[in-house]
Amino acid sequence: MNLRKIVIAIDGYSACGKSSTAKSAASILGYRYIDTGAMYRAVTLYFMEHHVALTNPKEVARSLQQINISFKVNSRNVSETYLNGLNVEKAIRSMRVSERVSEVSAIKDVRTAMVDLQRKMGKEKAVVMDGRDIGTVVFPSAELKLFMRADLLVRAFRRQRELLEKDRLVDLDDVISNIVQRDEYDTTRTESPLRRANDAILIDTTYITLEEQVDEVVRMALARMMTSN
Ligand code: C5P
Repeated sequence: MNLRKIVIAIDGYSACGKSSTAKSAASILGYRYIDTGAMYRAVTLYFMEHHVALTNPKEVARSLQQINISFKVNSRNVSETYLNGLNVEKAIRSMRVSERVSEVSAIKDVRTAMVDLQRKMGKEKAVVMDGRDIGTVVFPSAELKLFMRADLLVRAFRRQRELLEKDRLVDLDDVISNIVQRDEYDTTRTESPLRRANDAILIDTTYITLEEQVDEVVRMALARMMTSN
């Protein structure tokens, strides 16, 4: 059977399991996984390291031109983020970056540059892209749109465990306040705020395992891939 190539857009609140679900589903489907949050994190890291004044539009625009973001698959078949040729996968996951990323990603010029790049990356389809505005702005005509949410405490525990697996012990209260702060920023900003697209399917991950989330997404994707245009 001929399966058509589609775009799978996964949006939702911070730490709902979007990335883990998207990564596994992409690997099962043989699709590319694009972590758009990692792109905004990489821009944030660059801005922090170069002391870019966020309130100075000229400086922001100039800095954006110096930034090259790409993804490379490592020997364990895991996609990693590169900033100007340097592997920044670990650095962009730090709490230091998490605390500033929503502020940076609310800047119009930053969004325009990232959306452009994301559209180029997804041009050939056969991608799973996760973020906050994929189904609403980046690929409004994506064939499959999902919107994920989960209880705050469950999200915080999961994120804390994830950080611990990377040898980072972060206080649960700090994880909670970071999630709350990012959700608030992301949903209330002027530029493409986080919201569920009208045609996005809602998945609440509070009581389901990662395996169940992945199964569900793969099942829905296959159904879309089998539908003729
Ligand atoms: O997905 P992740 O939690 O790593 O994203 C980090 C931050 O990047 C989000 O809190 C949000 O501020 C920003 N982001 C965004 N639009 C996207 C993806 C992420 O504004 N498409």
